[in-house]
Amino acid sequence: MDIDHIDHEVIVVGGGAAGLSAGIALARSRRSVLVIDAGEPRNAPAAGVHNFLSRDGIGPHDLVASGRTELAHYGGGLRLGRVDTAERLDHGFAVRLEDGERLVARRLVVTAGVVDALPDIDSLREHWGTGVLHCPYCHGWEVRDQAIGVVATGATSVHQALLFSQLSDEVTLVTHSFEPDAESLSLLAGAGVTVLESTVRSVEAAGGVVSGLRLEDGSLLAVGAVVVSPYSSARSSLLESLGIEAVAHPSGMGESVEVDLMGQTSVPGVYAAGNVTDISAQVMGAAAAGTKAGAAVNADLVMSDAREKVVA
Ligand SMILES: Cc1cc2nc3c(=O)[nH]c(=O)nc-3n(C[C@H](O)[C@H](O)[C@H](O)COP(=O)(O)OP(=O)(O)OC[C@H]3O[C@@H](n4cnc5c(N)ncnc54)[C@H](O)[C@@H]3O)c2cc1C
Repeated sequence: MDIDHIDHEVIVVGGGAAGLSAGIALARSRRSVLVIDAGEPRNAPAAGVHNFLSRDGIGPHDLVASGRTELAHYGGGLRLGRVDTAERLDHGFAVRLEDGERLVARRLVVTAGVVDALPDIDSLREHWGTGVLHCPYCHGWEVRDQAIGVVATGATSVHQALLFSQLSDEVTLVTHSFEPDAESLSLLAGAGVTVLESTVRSVEAAGGVVSGLRLEDGSLLAVGAVVVSPYSSARSSLLESLGIEAVAHPSGMGESVEVDLMGQTSVPGVYAAGNVTDISAQVMGAAAAGTKAGAAVNADLVMSDAREKVVA
């Protein structure tokens, strides 16, 4: 039996759309909740959030700021910082922050998001989220009718080229490190996508705006936007320290942590939501999952307390 006191009923690790939504659901249920956030939402490089009902185009950091205000309004706590490790206790969980502080809670919600690994191409990362994109639903409209270059690194790239062909008649898939099979080639042809067999050396820009892809033979493919397929890995080291492993996402686009419909992981008392459990979730989906997980944690605590009282 450990003798740690409880600092908060619930600690939420990660304060993006999922974590803040979980925190707000818990604070509105009069739970003592602390959201700990390192302040790096996945979409930070982008100018605005799209496909988010009633908040179309809001800046990623403005959305977070607005969520923090709502959290505070209901009495939820926010701590800026990074959680390094987590451990199970008899009566809950302890997390240790990078500055050494140790905090104990009855339940844990992990909403730490993902890390996007990008193709290793010169100057690509500096345009990530502006001229270098991955999601047609997030920023496809903004580059509609422009020449778009898809850098193929896997089967997902074919899927992306097909989706972007809905937004522009000038989509070129550069084979780079992936050879589409015959079926893919016929689908690409059917969708009007040009296939160019070459390797991309660098992303070129003029005045800070993407202007083309420099190819292996030195030629320039003029494009206004570049599409890549990142490999998105759940920031799951905390969960791993609790015995919860990330598994390959069926799409092959990355790794995520499995949860049930309410966000409960395989370890009772540990919940997860947002991109860490679903690498393809957009902001609205991540927020919805966070709200659901927050509600599930509250219900879990209500039941647990009621049972204890019955026993007493
Ligand atoms: C370039 C780009 C553009 C996008 N544009 C859109 C768009 O227009 N519309 C849309 O709907 N979706 C968009 N998305 C997807 C969107 O980013 C995700 O849906 C959303 O960020 C998921 O929210 P989340 O809360 O799960 O994770 P995140 O928003 O990534 O939040 C996770 C938070 O946890 C923090 N954190 C991580 N580890 C720790 C730790 N150990 N301790 C404490 N804090 C930690 C991080 O710093 C971060 O603040 C885009 C994605 C990218 C990459």
